[in-house]
Amino acid sequence: MVDWNAMSDDAFREEVRAFFEQNYPEPLRYILRRARWEEMKDWWRRLYEQGWIAPNWPVKEGGMGLDAGKMVIYLEEMERHGVARAPDQGITQVGPIIMKFGTEAQRAYYLPRTLSGEIIWCQGYSEPNAGSDLASLQTSAVPDGGHFVVNGQKIWTTLAHDATHIYLLARTARQGKKQEGISFFLVDLKTAGISIRPIRNLAMHEEFCEVFFDNVRIPRAALVGGLNEGWTIAKALLGYERLNIGSPRRPAYALQRLEQVARAKGLLSDAGFVDRFTAVKLDLEDLAALYARFVDQVKRGKDLGPEVSVLKIWAMEAWQRVTDLLLEIGDEQGVMPGIQEVAGVEADFLNPFYYARPATIYGGSSEIQRNILAKYVLRLPG
Ligand SMILES: Cc1cc2nc3c(=O)[nH]c(=O)nc-3n(C[C@H](O)[C@H](O)[C@H](O)COP(=O)(O)OP(=O)(O)OC[C@H]3O[C@@H](n4cnc5c(N)ncnc54)[C@H](O)[C@@H]3O)c2cc1C
Repeated sequence: MVDWNAMSDDAFREEVRAFFEQNYPEPLRYILRRARWEEMKDWWRRLYEQGWIAPNWPVKEGGMGLDAGKMVIYLEEMERHGVARAPDQGITQVGPIIMKFGTEAQRAYYLPRTLSGEIIWCQGYSEPNAGSDLASLQTSAVPDGGHFVVNGQKIWTTLAHDATHIYLLARTARQGKKQEGISFFLVDLKTAGISIRPIRNLAMHEEFCEVFFDNVRIPRAALVGGLNEGWTIAKALLGYERLNIGSPRRPAYALQRLEQVARAKGLLSDAGFVDRFTAVKLDLEDLAALYARFVDQVKRGKDLGPEVSVLKIWAMEAWQRVTDLLLEIGDEQGVMPGIQEVAGVEADFLNPFYYARPATIYGGSSEIQRNILAKYVLRLPG
């Protein structure tokens, strides 16, 4: 068993880079949309066989157990080579939750299958009238003998059409505070009564879906943690989601292209441009440092508190600043979809811009993250 953390950073970087270069499928480099499972499954298997599918998981659970510094290197190398994000909510979000809150039976069943790709997860949180105000969710799970019966609708469920399972928040009590009547379930999407309808986005990609539950009977064993105790789990999962979203890997592509095009256009000797370019470059350096701090916190076994909201805000807003600048220097070609040639450099200007737009919404909008910081970190009066 290799102890990756004991390797020098340079040696680790070299090893990861060589592996990505030799194994990642060329046609899937730098695709600027969420990759579908069908495209990514061979790569998933390759990473799994290598033991590298879960860089964030502890070694005893089948992960790489990377420390913060190595984690950043791993993500930087993914980005450098244009490796797409696989349908990875199982690895980045619900896996750590099952490790922490799941029963022995849930851990034994779900964790190995999540690693191998036999189980692919999607997130069933948002509803048509419960996004920012997630605790208002109305999808219900009513106990019935050895089962719960689920009715309701989820929306914006990323890649539900590729998933085999959904982690679901449902209302199990209506009295008292709304946060105290929510439970967290693990549900097989093949269960009778579930239907999935894709939604097409502005870039014409069917990246998310609506998921409908019509008298869906799920076993009692689908419940994670205690009945009506799902809100704590939901928040812990959002912490992991914000950590993952906050990784510096996505803005890095846009920055790389920005630098190439700017150099080709001679903009790196234009003081006005250099001023703006340096500002976004430093924003991303700050992001990498902030991300490493939170990864380290998780590795030391400490919970992600509300502070992780600052990472989410910084990562997403910095990404938007980079993609704004990229679109701007693309001139008139910049607003054309697909790969365009500007000053002899081929780049996609519009898609990174589109891709970064919803980033200040998903995983909890920037406004909500600012509210969280104000209330729980700065303790400002409400
Ligand atoms: C690309 C993408 C992928 C997604 N994937 C998933 C997924 O896989 N699973 C899932 O469950 N959900 C997913 N979502 C949904 C996402 O979590 C919600 O869109 C988000 O929580 C915001 O909710 P909403 O869309 O209902 O907007 P609303 O809550 O209606 O908010 C609308 C606007 O009002 C602002 N606002 C709302 N309340 C306040 C307040 N109290 N103070 C200040 N401003 C406020 C918001 O910031 C926002 O700008 C995804 C969304 C996107 C865009």
